[in-house]
Amino acid sequence: SNQLMAGKRGLIMGLANDKSIAWGIAKACAEAGAELAFSYQGEALLKRVAPLAEQLGSDTVLPCDVADMASIGALFDALEKKWGKIDFLVHAIGFSDKNELRGRYVDTSRENFIKTMDISVYSFTAVAHRAEKLMTDGGSMLTLTYYGAEQVMPHYNVMGVAKAALEASVKYLAEDLGRDGIRVNAISAGPIRTLAASGIGDFRYILKWNELNSPLRRNITIEDVGKSALYLLSDLGSGTTGENLHVDAGYHIVGMKAVDAPDI
Ligand code: NAD
Repeated sequence: SNQLMAGKRGLIMGLANDKSIAWGIAKACAEAGAELAFSYQGEALLKRVAPLAEQLGSDTVLPCDVADMASIGALFDALEKKWGKIDFLVHAIGFSDKNELRGRYVDTSRENFIKTMDISVYSFTAVAHRAEKLMTDGGSMLTLTYYGAEQVMPHYNVMGVAKAALEASVKYLAEDLGRDGIRVNAISAGPIRTLAASGIGDFRYILKWNELNSPLRRNITIEDVGKSALYLLSDLGSGTTGENLHVDAGYHIVGMKAVDAPDI
């Protein structure tokens, strides 16, 4: 294993289970020598997250509901007390009512629009604001997005609108924090079967379509995302900020259904 992250400490937000994108990123960082802290949403997830953290040598597992500013405050207070400073932050969090991840975007309710934007967009800015103060030697922040921000994808609806706002906020944050040596980037991951993805309508069809039509003719894994995250989080990515790195087997460059793709 490499030692790209030796001596670096980071916070991983959004680990739910061993299918989570956050898990793929955490594994890659730990293998590269990083020391990790994890935040989890709600007491029910602790029994899943604590053993995973332990597998990677971490006993720092802290609750945080990003809908609650006091909860974000308590998380960063605890981290400051424990470590004083951090070097990187991973935000792998999103939420929308699954009843609105099917059908038409135009039917989105005001209530779910606001909730989706709050959890999936504002939370990254809120944690960046706190993490900035702990990144006293510079640092790297990373969030997760999807191609539905750039082009209309079936059923993605309000989540696509939220990811577009998240991608814009990555650019604004990169400008604000760049002078302090803090880089801010996104990974636009191809579809992966996770808890969050299971709420999206026709997800099996979307996975199959990507497999048959992406240049690599396969779907990506959380390990693929982990390796690319390592580039952005480590010194390998020292010249890159405000970027949206597509880890999608090349799907975003494709203009038309592949001629060799069977009908599905
Ligand atoms: P996941 O269900 O494993 O992770 C989503 C996480 O968000 C969970 O850990 C959940 O606890 C957390 N979360 C939701 N509301 C929260 C709140 N109020 N406070 C704190 N945490 C909260 O699913 P995932 O697919 O690994 O999702 C991680 C990120 O990757 C999301 O931003 C998602 O939109 C993005 N993404 C996923 C895919 C995919 O196909 N799975 C593709 C591109 C981008």
